Amino acid sequence: MKPILFIDMDNVTVDYYTQFAKYVKEITGILFKYKLNELTSFTCMKWLKEYFLEEKAVQVKEKIFNDIKFWTTMEPMPDAIEIIKLLENKYNVYISTSAFVSNSNSCVLGKIEWVKKHLPFIDIAKLIYCHHKYLLKGDYIIDDLPRVVEKFTGKIIIMDYPYNRFYKADYRVKNWKEIGELLL
Ligand SMILES: [Mg+2]
Repeated sequence: MKPILFIDMDNVTVDYYTQFAKYVKEITGILFKYKLNELTSFTCMKWLKEYFLEEKAVQVKEKIFNDIKFWTTMEPMPDAIEIIKLLENKYNVYISTSAFVSNSNSCVLGKIEWVKKHLPFIDIAKLIYCHHKYLLKGDYIIDDLPRVVEKFTGKIIIMDYPYNRFYKADYRVKNWKEIGELLL
């Protein structure tokens, strides 16, 4: 039997932060000063509150999250699609991602559309919407957020960012090439 591998979407398979920054720029004219690899926080409210008061930050966040195009037009991370395709031959691959980030269905529906378009070789039934990912049972999980995976019973592979460096994972990788070297 192939080992079971769970793969996260935001900031792992897709460039969530850069897309978010692009939408903030379009809506407000504000250009975030940090790049993805400089982030010390994962939370979009923290990013927004460097530039806006709470009320405006919530408004901007909701506007972005409610737009299905925000979710369907994200760029894949470099090499992600190619490596996932190769991994699919050796592993039983599931996409494990949180999708309940706003009061609308845009994220839920948008992520289905994204996976169908970019990962057509993965059965859509293997898209798992899950926030408490440590409840999943499998051999490996790739994620960027320690708090959602830290009690996972398989091996934890963390996609490296400044905001997760406090955490000692089983493996730490900087990009998809390194994931390929580790798992293929
Ligand atoms: Mg993530």
